[in-house]
Amino acid sequence: MLTEFGDALQQGLVSRTLSTCSRWVEKRRTMGEPFPGPYSFKYHPWCREVHDTSAGFNTVMKAAQMGLTEVAINIAFFTNDVKKRDVLYVLPTALNAGDFSKSRFNTALMHSEYLKTLYTDTNTVGLKQAGGVNLYIRGSRGDSNLKSIPVSVLILDEADEMDQRSIWLALERLSGQLHKFVFSLSTPTIPNYGIHKLYLQGTQEHFYFKCPRCGRNTEFVYPDCLEICGESITDPAVKKSYLKCKECKKRIDHKEKPEFLKFPKSYWEPTVTVDEDHRSFYVNQMYSYTVTPGDLAMAYFRGVGDEAAMVEFNNSKLGLPYIPDGGQVTETEIDNAIHRYFKEDQRPNLGTDRCIVMGIDQGKMNHVVVTEFLLDPKGKVQDLNASAFAKILWQGKLPGDDFSALDPLMREWQIRACVIDADPQINDARRFARRFPGYVYLCRYRRGVTGKELQVAEEDNGAPIVTVDRSNWLDASMGRFHSDRIHIPADTPLEFKDHMKALVRTYEKDEQGNPKAIYLNTGPDHYAHAYNYSEIALPLAAGIVAGGDIIDKII
Ligand SMILES: [Zn+2]
Repeated sequence: MLTEFGDALQQGLVSRTLSTCSRWVEKRRTMGEPFPGPYSFKYHPWCREVHDTSAGFNTVMKAAQMGLTEVAINIAFFTNDVKKRDVLYVLPTALNAGDFSKSRFNTALMHSEYLKTLYTDTNTVGLKQAGGVNLYIRGSRGDSNLKSIPVSVLILDEADEMDQRSIWLALERLSGQLHKFVFSLSTPTIPNYGIHKLYLQGTQEHFYFKCPRCGRNTEFVYPDCLEICGESITDPAVKKSYLKCKECKKRIDHKEKPEFLKFPKSYWEPTVTVDEDHRSFYVNQMYSYTVTPGDLAMAYFRGVGDEAAMVEFNNSKLGLPYIPDGGQVTETEIDNAIHRYFKEDQRPNLGTDRCIVMGIDQGKMNHVVVTEFLLDPKGKVQDLNASAFAKILWQGKLPGDDFSALDPLMREWQIRACVIDADPQINDARRFARRFPGYVYLCRYRRGVTGKELQVAEEDNGAPIVTVDRSNWLDASMGRFHSDRIHIPADTPLEFKDHMKALVRTYEKDEQGNPKAIYLNTGPDHYAHAYNYSEIALPLAAGIVAGGDIIDKII
């Protein structure tokens, strides 16, 4: 009994001195591979101060494998254990949340006796209970419970892969609260999106150290501090690549890092001053103890001539946002597309044989694009979109609560095929389709559809629904601007141009770890999708021209 009492007393004393997260974690967490034993800042000194940030908003824009996800997990545990507050830990999808709960969370408990006793109920995948407080683990997509969980501590892990709307909603909701703590982290993707957008709102802190050669305070930045040796990935000289000080240009040995990055020689410092209570941090793999300069040089060479690998080098190795070559429609490309004709020019004659189609993106406003396709008589029928030239005749927006306003456009432009976003108002879209049977198709972007294939399902009466791959069709649409195969009217609204430029093509990893093209938006992009739906309408219109059963012809 006495021993037990003594143990309890000692535990109590330890607990009282563990008022900061960084000290708590050194005492309370035990790690498995690759650095087994008590949690230590030895291998990632940049993680110490990040644990103890007391700002209301905190953002970490990071390279991969820098130990920062572990920081997020530690903050969650510490908040439950010491601050006795609920935590909402959000991952991109419900599947990610489930995996996290099973692997990361349960592994942490397996290695730590203390955490094992702290969490009294761990059976529910999305909810871990520690006495009176909870750790909620949720996915960001299609998960309405995010809104209903009353928490003041929110952790957003892999923010760039999340449903961006749900992130901004969650942040907005918290910003009015007196007690709040938000910790967002991610490898970045494109500029002004997700973690980079958040990072720019904070202090933009970099991790500084004293150069072991010249003694000046400095940091590792790319390309100044990475001397890449060799000519290509197969050149053995690549292994000789090294780090250097950007102040004195002298070589800094990778193996010296544990010495010159050691606490308190290294420190975080803001690069901008902000009024907000928001600290933001940036760290790249040049700091890593496990990634060598040779590894980084190899990753660089992999990216030469391979944009997906260049994205990986910038995002995952350098922790920097990056737009791949040709990833965005440029101002010049849009200027080149503008030609001297106007939206109010003469309408087509009744019963015209011109191939005019319409695309509609639903929302608060319905964005509409009317496109004429000029078919190349010698073009290949297999890829109509590649051989046809596009001329946008009209763009505009109509109130999203009145779908009947779309009807006159169908007649005015003698529309051969119209494709409309199926969501969010699917019933309105269906009714619109039924008013023009055989001419209007609902559309959904889906995974599991390949190439420019259209899957048409005859849903209900007269409201067929087409399913397409989002990236492939956007490639076809945006590609027109890159290859100068589209004209837009001289009085095209500025908003249309902005929406076209808002879409950025980059790469994400699929389930097998292979790069897959994906379009992200840095702002509203409704007109871009409205145009894209008109591109999708072309093969459907061609089916009408042929006068047969469209569905059989397309698939
Ligand atoms: Zn130096």
